[in-house]
Amino acid sequence: MIDMEDKTLICRDCGREFTFSASEQQFYAEKGFTNEPGRCPECRAAHKAQRVASGRTSGGYSTGPREMFPAVCAQCGKQTQVPFEPHGDRPVYCSDCFAQQRGTGGSSRRSGGRNRSW
Ligand SMILES: [Zn+2]
Ligand SMILES: [Zn+2]
Repeated sequence: MIDMEDKTLICRDCGREFTFSASEQQFYAEKGFTNEPGRCPECRAAHKAQRVASGRTSGGYSTGPREMFPAVCAQCGKQTQVPFEPHGDRPVYCSDCFAQQRGTGGSSRRSGGRNRSW
């Protein structure tokens, strides 16, 4: 077994000196790492956290604010904003009326059909 001594290294991120302890060196040697750590433990932790955070956001579709267009609801006349550009060929509804439009006329609800016995 080789006797290891604590080493003082300079962090490449913050430029501070940090200790690469004998036990860490041993750990590195056991893992087969030949490189000495380039960053102090703080910067390493920060770097790791950053990578995890960015990995999370880049994984899914960005749900940031969408571009909204001003419009007037065709049903209630209220000023509203819609996530698409209104062209005038289709009625534009505010979110309330849009929900109503979707709620009625769907296959989920039949109007009166059930009450008729014939
Ligand atoms: Zn550092
Ligand atoms: Zn409306």
